Amino acid sequence: MKKVVKFGGSSLADAAQFQKVAGIIKSDPDRRYIIPSAPGKRFDGDTKVTDMLYDCYRSAKGSGLFEEKLIAIRDRYQLIVDGLGLSISLKEEFEEIRKNFAAGIGVDYAASRGEYLNGKIMAVYMDIPFIDAADVIRFTQDGTFDQAQTDSLLRERLKDCDRAVIPGFYGSMENGAIKTFSRGGSDITGSIVARAIRADVYENWTDVSGVMVTDPRIVENPEVIDTVTYRELRELSYMGATVLHEDAIFPVRQEGIPINIRNTNRPQDRGTFIVESTCKKSPFVITGIAGKKGFCSINIEKSMMNSEIGFGRRVLQVFEDQGISFEHTPSGIDTFTVYVHQSEFEEKEQQVIAGLHRLVHPDVVEMESDLALIAVVGRGMKSTRGTAGRIFSALAHANVNVRMIDQGSSELNIIIGVENRDFETAVRAIYNIFVLTKL
Ligand code: ASP
Repeated sequence: MKKVVKFGGSSLADAAQFQKVAGIIKSDPDRRYIIPSAPGKRFDGDTKVTDMLYDCYRSAKGSGLFEEKLIAIRDRYQLIVDGLGLSISLKEEFEEIRKNFAAGIGVDYAASRGEYLNGKIMAVYMDIPFIDAADVIRFTQDGTFDQAQTDSLLRERLKDCDRAVIPGFYGSMENGAIKTFSRGGSDITGSIVARAIRADVYENWTDVSGVMVTDPRIVENPEVIDTVTYRELRELSYMGATVLHEDAIFPVRQEGIPINIRNTNRPQDRGTFIVESTCKKSPFVITGIAGKKGFCSINIEKSMMNSEIGFGRRVLQVFEDQGISFEHTPSGIDTFTVYVHQSEFEEKEQQVIAGLHRLVHPDVVEMESDLALIAVVGRGMKSTRGTAGRIFSALAHANVNVRMIDQGSSELNIIIGVENRDFETAVRAIYNIFVLTKL
């Protein structure tokens, strides 16, 4: 078996975390390709090394605090090196970084040093060869990721290399300049490496024991999802569940490689498997609940709307003209409602109303703000009777008024609109009825 294992910033924040990671790698010889992030926060209020690097690079171009900021970063690494009892010196590396920063080498180079240095330390500590991501992860000159080139570089380089540490988050362009993915992009590197070498599994180690059924800020200690499909995860992430970088799914999904989310602080936990498809049933009918506050509804009424061909298209045209994306469009015979993000809509509200009057001549336009949307997601809902019934009776018992209901034809999710102030109560009520009561 071949496993690609990515460790997030909190898993490598200090020497003690490095030691846990070493234990995890050593406990399974299949864990052969290691993708480290930069050191993350050690405690609440701490600063991630990547943020320190961005800040330091900004200073290199201006204020005199540059040297101090660089020393603070060096100290972070030195603490790790000393804590691990290693004898390597980072002096030359930091001298080169200092010169490059001062010469204005570029912000992506600056940010990438966090992963680069952590990778160097990890390679020495684990006695595993280091491969600079700049040599194997390729971007085109316009900054887009070059999958074909990367695949062939990685395959060529790793074919005789059965173990390697490859830092996450960055690669290089054809001209050699360093380019990073967007923030959190080490997840993407792991996925790309897993795809290139056709790994059996891509393990993504973090500080939680997997994807949770719902937000732990709303429900205390929610259950962890055992297995989730890519499609389910997409629905949940879109509605606010934060698990992986969005772009990390695509490379492994193309190859049908499962992702296993694991907890560095609790390696005994099985974590969550993210898979293309599965016949495994979720123990709770639903797989997860996610949601977001801050939506507006624009309710358009016009008698005989039902016989006016092109009405819906014209309504949506108004939103398109203003560059506003819509979330849902529940409709009745003479009503058509559009749900949009409040933040996107508010400043263009009057232009939208004017546009609607011009294009569709409504009888009434009513708007409502401070609405929340909740997505109840689950592949198991498809063939199960009564799911919607349970959701709505739970909400009724919790005194939550439902403002909108939308079930996709895939039966993979049910979207419920409630008022912002009912959001948490509604999520808890749905969680309780499916997970705690298991009715
Ligand atoms: N270190 C980078 C960041 O903080 C990338 C990552 O951790 O995945 O965004």
